[in-house]
Amino acid sequence: MSDVKIDPAESPLVESPVIPQTFDGDYKIKFRCHKDIACFNACCKNIDITLSPYDIIRLKQRLDIDSGEFLSKYTVPFEMEKEGMAGVKMLPVDGGTACQFMTEEGCSVYEDRPTACRYYPVGLLSMRKQTEYIDRTSYAMIREDHCQGHLEDNEMTIDEYRADQKTEDFDKYSRGWRQLILKRKSAGPGIGTLSLKSRQLFFMANYDLDRFRLFIISDGFNSTFSVSDEEMETLKTDDIALMEFGDKFLRQVLFNEQTIDLKADADKAREQRRTDLKAAQEAAAAAEAAEKDGD
Ligand code: SF4
Ligand code: SF4
Repeated sequence: MSDVKIDPAESPLVESPVIPQTFDGDYKIKFRCHKDIACFNACCKNIDITLSPYDIIRLKQRLDIDSGEFLSKYTVPFEMEKEGMAGVKMLPVDGGTACQFMTEEGCSVYEDRPTACRYYPVGLLSMRKQTEYIDRTSYAMIREDHCQGHLEDNEMTIDEYRADQKTEDFDKYSRGWRQLILKRKSAGPGIGTLSLKSRQLFFMANYDLDRFRLFIISDGFNSTFSVSDEEMETLKTDDIALMEFGDKFLRQVLFNEQTIDLKADADKAREQRRTDLKAAQEAAAAAEAAEKDGD
């Protein structure tokens, strides 16, 4: 099983199982995967699966371990671009190519399986042109010889297949991460390579959320960034809120967007509000005094 997050138009797909054509959600496919099919589990015996930050949250919560333990036991990092952003892939079984979660009965983490496993044999493509602000989602079809699901007489649209595979949360919560990657890639080579520190922050804020949580409660972070007590309490316990905060943090660090108040700015703004309030109170008092004098 392999995932696809590329633009097939940009890729030489001569030997690839990816059909070099993109489709919309209303494109009709014929496919069915079930336990009695002859190829059952074949796709999980040879994996190449990139994980999104939300995939990691689902799996670490399922296994009841922290992100550091999950990353070291079940993933391997890779470079999505030379000296740039890192991604993580599922680490197969020791000395083999099969998924560590595969059992004779099928997937042992089925309800929390990653995005790529849900979508297969549909490939999810996110594309963004340099001239466009928004990204576009489209789909590709992956046809591998061992997969007999394509021979089943079961027709549905890609959108119906996505609903059947419950991809909604996976789409919604991976959007920030996908957009960050697209934004960086669509900026072109002119933006330069990322510093080691930026690459480390990108990895931590996306994939190693429990370490990112320790980072944002540190004095170093709090001496620079201004986060309300209420939000900080949420971030201490809510992985999805923390992932979304990580996205804002990275936009600030990588693209200089003003997504989180900086301490100095926040202090300055607070001081300005105090000054404005005092001036308003003084003006009101002066007006009241003038009114009394006139009486
Ligand atoms: S997570 Fe489950 S569905 Fe995905 S490759 Fe592993 S065993 Fe197969
Ligand atoms: S039909 Fe395809 S997706 Fe389903 S088990 Fe067989 S190889 Fe895997």
